[in-house]
Amino acid sequence: MSLYDLIIRNGTLVTPTSLRQADLAIADERIVALEPEIAGSSREEIDVRGLHVFPGVIDAHVHFNEPGRTDWEGFSTGSRALAAGGTTAFFDMPLNAHPPTLDAESFRLKHEAALASSYVDFALWGGLVPENLDRLEELAQCGVIGFKAFMSNSGIDDFSSVDDYTLYEGMRCIASFGGLVAVHAENDQITHALAKLALAQDKTGIRDYLRSRPVVAELEAIERAILFAQETGCSLHIVHVSTGRGVRLVAEAQARGVDVSCETCPHYLVLTEEDVEALGAVAKCAPPLRPKVEQNELWAHIFAGALPMVASDHSPAPASMKTSTNFFSVWGGISGCQSLLSLLLTEGYAQRDLTLPVITSITAGYVARRFKLFPRKGVLAVGADADITLVDLQRSVRLDASDLLYRHQHSPYIGRTMSATILRTLVRGMTVYQDGSIIAKPAGHLLIPLSS
Ligand code: ZN
Repeated sequence: MSLYDLIIRNGTLVTPTSLRQADLAIADERIVALEPEIAGSSREEIDVRGLHVFPGVIDAHVHFNEPGRTDWEGFSTGSRALAAGGTTAFFDMPLNAHPPTLDAESFRLKHEAALASSYVDFALWGGLVPENLDRLEELAQCGVIGFKAFMSNSGIDDFSSVDDYTLYEGMRCIASFGGLVAVHAENDQITHALAKLALAQDKTGIRDYLRSRPVVAELEAIERAILFAQETGCSLHIVHVSTGRGVRLVAEAQARGVDVSCETCPHYLVLTEEDVEALGAVAKCAPPLRPKVEQNELWAHIFAGALPMVASDHSPAPASMKTSTNFFSVWGGISGCQSLLSLLLTEGYAQRDLTLPVITSITAGYVARRFKLFPRKGVLAVGADADITLVDLQRSVRLDASDLLYRHQHSPYIGRTMSATILRTLVRGMTVYQDGSIIAKPAGHLLIPLSS
């Protein structure tokens, strides 16, 4: 009888602190040994000499739109794309499904849909809106990974933005059971007024849109959310921070003891406002892409350890929603979940000498700790789930539209050469993706924060 299910031999293991040459053995979905030259029998062995072994990426921010808007995306197509990109778990946002995830019943519907068709593990965000203050505890009991609130218009009619009272009262309630609130931080009054003004003057171009969402709108909302978190004692996470000053506000609040974290997204690290002008609708997002100087600051914060996490904010839509002469009415959202790790390896590791341990921390290790999935997820360690991505750092590959496994094959990264190739992705020891193909059945599990 085999002692192990799989031994991965001679790889370079990437941990949050170092690179290590070792074998890795898997049994019953977990990593059970990590040492040079593991002895014993195994049902399968692979020799990965020359390759790097990463813990699978945990993408804390995707919009998969199921149930209800599967013509935009779905758990099957979305999670295939993730597996192809080396991601082994994702957290789905609550707003784009119909019904949105605002109570136990809508959570159940989404859980069922994901269980039926996700190829990788998943967690579900609940929503915080003015209409569901009395449903927060029930959502926590379902096992939501946290509560997402919009401080500006969400773009989805049945997912209202929070007024200040709802955000404050919601945080008070969520703090009482140890939950976490994530906010889309943009000041709605500023962005709404600027958009209205531009439209009234028939200014509907790309630059007009960019001007309607200024940096100050983001900074003000971050400050306000931090103040509420400080007053209520609620854990706070700021999603998709697009500016260096935004990250600094979070770091300063942390330093005075506020439980707050933030993420940025690959598009803010790789693209600038010039790229929106060149690429058009595929590069529209909110907050919008910023000038180069902001991008440089974000990279500097990553190097300094002040920006601990990167998530894709994969926000897909049918191509028909990405075409309009009025840039304000184009769907705002970038499709990019398949490229998260590849972009960091290309723009971070290959071009800026960002170390592989830092890359694994910002894509997996820190994410698992912040959202209470550690030590089960996010690291290569004995006892952790065998979520593993095999990467060839010597083999570059050009991204073509036909490589994209999500439903609508548009992306601002098409045509880019990625400096590394993701060869194989294992979820709890099972190979889901290998050499360009999905080779398993959907078997993703729901992940719930360990303390709940
Ligand atoms: Zn988002």
